[in-house]
Amino acid sequence: MKFSDSILVTRSSMPSLDEYVTEIRQMWDTRWLTNCGPEHNLLESRLARYCDVPYASLMINGHAALEAAIEALGLHGEVITTPFTFASTTHALVRRGITPVMCDIRPDDYTLDPERIESLITPRTTGIVPVHVYGHMCDVAAIRDIADRHGLKVLYDGAHAFGETLDGAGAMSFGDATICSFHATKVFNTIEGGAVFYRDSSLGPVLARIRNFGITGPETVESVGGNFKMNEFCAAMGLCNLRHLDEQISLRGQAEARYRERLTGIPGLVLSPIRTDVASNHAYMPLVVDETEFGADRDEVCHALARRNIYARKYFYPLVSDFACYRGRFDLEATPVARKVAARILCLPLYAGLSAEQVDGICDTILGCGTGV
Ligand SMILES: *Cc1c(COP(=O)(O)O)cnc(C)c1O
Repeated sequence: MKFSDSILVTRSSMPSLDEYVTEIRQMWDTRWLTNCGPEHNLLESRLARYCDVPYASLMINGHAALEAAIEALGLHGEVITTPFTFASTTHALVRRGITPVMCDIRPDDYTLDPERIESLITPRTTGIVPVHVYGHMCDVAAIRDIADRHGLKVLYDGAHAFGETLDGAGAMSFGDATICSFHATKVFNTIEGGAVFYRDSSLGPVLARIRNFGITGPETVESVGGNFKMNEFCAAMGLCNLRHLDEQISLRGQAEARYRERLTGIPGLVLSPIRTDVASNHAYMPLVVDETEFGADRDEVCHALARRNIYARKYFYPLVSDFACYRGRFDLEATPVARKVAARILCLPLYAGLSAEQVDGICDTILGCGTGV
């Protein structure tokens, strides 16, 4: 059976049209469309509260948040990071003139391997940029310990971790700062958007300057800033979506639970570890396909799904260090675990409203590829 409507890897959350119209109606009186208006400021404070972090600075997208945070924290020289991420993490470092140093990941949760960080530290190293990939929380304690011993800054890319907690603490509260993305494809969206979350109040004015041309007063420009401001329409979308977020996360959780029922214990199929100390946002449904045990490889599974109008995505393949724009720059042999995972990983469709029947259809197709079924 082929699904008549395509099932994509994700589907953007949206409020009802009426709710959004109510949220934006006053803009037709005020004509305040951007430049840190009331919707922007309200969303900024609500997000800080939701994430249980003292401060949030909104940005127009997650990538802008990364570049702004890198600048605000003063990262330069070399920064240790992961090749198993979205292009944005590495590009932000390179665009800020930094040399990314690729560190391998852990084989179980695909986050930066703390045991491999220290051997990569040189006199030029100024920071560590780990990624909570798929919402799998990094080993924040081990990373903090290494950073403290070597005087390094830690900036987390938390684009996948919005809404999670680790031992009850907000996922955005670790490191010197954590960035998040509110892109349309993420668990929580503002259409396009992002934020830097932090505990050190002195970062606030620095980020405010960076996102608004360095302007500090009607006649004063104190630094060479850019324009990374979130507009009122995006902020209004965020205020609406935030009201429904917990429900959306729980619906995602139901779909994930169905996947787990069907795919757990199948030889050659590896699911994400479940951690009792993390409240998951159920952002992604990564599946590692081990051909020798399963009888089919990742690409065969991906093609079989596509033939039925189901579009899984190979996140994160290729590794950033294997991109054409970085050819010759990174030693792929230096991150063998990341390479192995990238060759086997597939992200299955997961979003609020994906039905048990749809998940069953996807699982039937996957299981049909294996030799054991
Ligand atoms: C989405 C994403 C970003 C970039 O966010 P945008 O809002 O799309 O600019 C950065 N890092 C990771 C890991 C992401 O998934």
